[in-house]
Amino acid sequence: MAIDSEVLVVGGGIAGITAAIAAAREGADTRLVSHKASTLRQASGLIDALGYLPATEPAKPLREGPPTAGRNLDPDEWPDPEGPLADPFEAIDRLPEDHPYRLVGADALREGLDLFDDLVGDAYLGGHTDRNALVPTFGGSVKPTARYPASAAAGLASDDRPALIVGFRSLTEYDARTFADRLAAAGVPFDVAGAEVEFAEAFRADAKITRLAKALDRDEPIDGTPAREALAKAVGPHLHDVVDGEGGVDRVERVGFPAFLGDDHAAEVRAELGDRLGADVFEIPMGPPSLPGLRLEDLLYDALDDAGVRFETGTPAVGYEVDGGGDGGGGDGSGDRIDRLVMDRKGSEVPYGAEAIVLATGGLVGKGLDSDRDGVREPVLDLHVPQPADRYEWFVDDAFGEQPYARFGVRPDERLRPLDESGEVAYGNVRVAGAVVGGADVAREKSASGVSLATGLVAGREAAREVGQ
Ligand SMILES: Cc1cc2nc3c(=O)[nH]c(=O)nc-3n(C[C@H](O)[C@H](O)[C@H](O)COP(=O)(O)OP(=O)(O)OC[C@H]3O[C@@H](n4cnc5c(N)ncnc54)[C@H](O)[C@@H]3O)c2cc1C
Repeated sequence: MAIDSEVLVVGGGIAGITAAIAAAREGADTRLVSHKASTLRQASGLIDALGYLPATEPAKPLREGPPTAGRNLDPDEWPDPEGPLADPFEAIDRLPEDHPYRLVGADALREGLDLFDDLVGDAYLGGHTDRNALVPTFGGSVKPTARYPASAAAGLASDDRPALIVGFRSLTEYDARTFADRLAAAGVPFDVAGAEVEFAEAFRADAKITRLAKALDRDEPIDGTPAREALAKAVGPHLHDVVDGEGGVDRVERVGFPAFLGDDHAAEVRAELGDRLGADVFEIPMGPPSLPGLRLEDLLYDALDDAGVRFETGTPAVGYEVDGGGDGGGGDGSGDRIDRLVMDRKGSEVPYGAEAIVLATGGLVGKGLDSDRDGVREPVLDLHVPQPADRYEWFVDDAFGEQPYARFGVRPDERLRPLDESGEVAYGNVRVAGAVVGGADVAREKSASGVSLATGLVAGREAAREVGQ
């Protein structure tokens, strides 16, 4: 027997969760199904809206290229890509016409961010302004982002108070001194130093970030000293490591750690360390596994529950069914209707009926898009993914240039209905959201979560309105 709901959302990432909550808030009976955990666990926990505009220089297909180096460009005709954007909203008009933000509009991004603020409460900051914050990230770069965890607040690069960055000998992939040097070289308006300290060396064999976070959560004894006190003692001697412009010594007013200061009790861990050090404590977002990402996932799952969305994971969508063999519409431009998705539940194929469907299955990383020798495809509904037939045209000769494949994805109309090869609506009761949607180079633009929030919000609302029609 089919499992029915009014709106069925496929994909448990930030786009699917946003869509499901938006649909539920419109009054639709909503179910969210997901194959696996989303990329939230790997992501930094920052919510990027739009940090950079893509280059306006036309990219040459690899096959045609002479190497980019040494090319003389007319700066009036092809201005350099801009530096970090202060205001993402103001820049949306300058994005390519087929960019998802141009389809759904700047207001959708604003409302998507508002919804996010509402869901996460005071765990996140940045909602007081339209302007991007500059947040130092693991690796020593400073990233323009729209929302950041409260735990990162004291680390903003716009703050001019001297800062100490702490690293751990047991965490070899994180080098605090290099990080501090990079920040200084990037021209941050504060004096900064890095210090490597010994802490929880006994965890060396299993120096997993989550293990350290749990030890701080539980304040486990480390060599007989409670973990938080032990960490503060290790850092204390370095509070005067920062040298100012005149060669004098500052006592730091803020101390940055890799983002593993607790999991369930992160705010408490941060506050206690701050008291012990007499300085504000902040976390620096780092690569996977990401504690800020895990904490955000928890918050968003709780929000799904609060919104009354039924949620199941471990259930991949493997196909679909169309009543009447797939010719149920189309003639009037509103497309066919998909009546059921086929889900794989522990090896059995189970139909899930719905009046409207949101496909939020992610991009190449989330497996919402598949790449094989025949090209890039959307595997659940077999939606059209425009791409040059000649693979040489997927890439350009400039390794740091804008790569066409980065924009691959399903192309929808402004109501986020997927379009077929001839530009017609493929399925009238389907909406697409998040990284499965093409047209944005989210890694270069620093726009991934913003695109997911804006398209998730519109897709969820649109799906709810489809119900009963
Ligand atoms: C390493 C990393 C770092 C990142 N850092 C940032 C950052 O700093 N700032 C930022 O804004 N964004 C960042 N992102 C991007 C962000 O986390 C999301 O990837 C992006 O917003 C897309 O979200 P999504 O919901 O569309 O897709 P995903 O997060 O990819 O979620 C897709 C979901 O669909 C499910 N799914 C796929 N196929 C099926 C199927 N057939 N049936 C059922 N379910 C299916 C997947 O299991 C998954 O749950 C980062 C991503 C990664 C991978």
